Amino acid sequence: MAKVLYNEPSPLETKVISQRFGLEGSETLDVYLKTKGYEAFRKAKEMTPEAIIEEVKTSSLRGRGGAGFPTGLKWSFVPRTHPKPRVIVVNGDESEPGTCKDRLLIEYDPHQLIEGILIAGLAVDAHVGYIYIRGEYRYLIEKMDRALEEAYARGYLGDNVAGTGFKFDLYTHTGAGAYECGEETALLDSLEGKRGVPRMKPPFPAVAGAWAMPTLLNNVETFSSVPAIIRDGGAAYAALGTPKNGGTRLLCISGHVNKPGVYEVPLGFPMMKAINEIAGGVRGGKKLKAVVPGGSSCPILKAEECDVAMDYDTIAKIGSMMGSGGMVVLDEDTDMVGFALRIMRFYAHESCGWCIPCREGTTWLRKMLQRYYDGHGRKEDIDIIGEVSKNMLGRTFCALGDAAAMPTISIVEKFRDEFEKYLTRETVAV
Ligand code: SF4
Repeated sequence: MAKVLYNEPSPLETKVISQRFGLEGSETLDVYLKTKGYEAFRKAKEMTPEAIIEEVKTSSLRGRGGAGFPTGLKWSFVPRTHPKPRVIVVNGDESEPGTCKDRLLIEYDPHQLIEGILIAGLAVDAHVGYIYIRGEYRYLIEKMDRALEEAYARGYLGDNVAGTGFKFDLYTHTGAGAYECGEETALLDSLEGKRGVPRMKPPFPAVAGAWAMPTLLNNVETFSSVPAIIRDGGAAYAALGTPKNGGTRLLCISGHVNKPGVYEVPLGFPMMKAINEIAGGVRGGKKLKAVVPGGSSCPILKAEECDVAMDYDTIAKIGSMMGSGGMVVLDEDTDMVGFALRIMRFYAHESCGWCIPCREGTTWLRKMLQRYYDGHGRKEDIDIIGEVSKNMLGRTFCALGDAAAMPTISIVEKFRDEFEKYLTRETVAV
């Protein structure tokens, strides 16, 4: 019997990590074991740690949380001979507006995530892991805890994982609901029970992370991709995507489309094909105005820039980012001043206040955009909004400042005419 999903799958998808979505009981260990579950772990157990890391490098898997850092390389930074024990930390904070795929991986296929974590444990000789889940995802913590309970009860966690003699303990940990805790070092502070603010780097978490122990930290989607890589081989996974952009990723398509949802496509999939053929096109037959390609922190793309292949390098070449896969589609009627204000309200609210350029910058920008939106903008404000954003860029303690600045700069530069129109409006926006 098929399971009801949040959205209907598309025949154009390439299902690797979402292959069990829709199967009845997909969240159970029984279904997982019947569908190639733990084949990869058993294979990895026979491999050396170096060979596992090499396979992940060959796959060209890049971090699915947003930064897109090569995963195998990140794993190689964790010192396996360090006197302190190694720790695995899973970033399930998923707070980037427009992004909603890690929650499906946890809800529909938690054992795939557990297997990916176990393989990472073999690769870096870690025997404990923590899955950090944002506070708003409380219902997921219960689901993840049920999966952990089942894995322990059936011998897939604990002192003798799958009868192989490998020991691994895994715990969930809930955040309190803060965007900042998706930043890896703030997440680690939060995990340790402190206020979630970022740490100075170096040292990087690979060397001194959770409780100052060497820590391998990746996103839920990244770990969930590992079983397929080890089971089918890194080269096969890499071949699904484009050079240096291996495999598939989950796209969360939202906004003004007919069929919003989470869809799995190979890296390099054409953006317009995703919008028109997977997500059913712009709703109401309207024209496309712009796309946020990878979550609200990414520079916006105008419609004419969207005829592009979606991989990290190609999107970077046109000045934006693949980010966390949160693709927001905007139709011709979208008010871009209002859109910029909505984004800035979020970042001003979520700024942790640790450093001045972000704390003050996001607040100034929110106030200026609000004034503009309310119909009291001045001509010089357009340039000031752009300048304040540029002055934040690269000058904040963590990437939240950049995340607030980048979309704003792009909106002001690409939609300046809309800001100018606000100056001559007779009616005040509501
Ligand atoms: Fe906090 Fe600064 Fe990061 Fe903003 S940029 S979230 S104020 S540390």
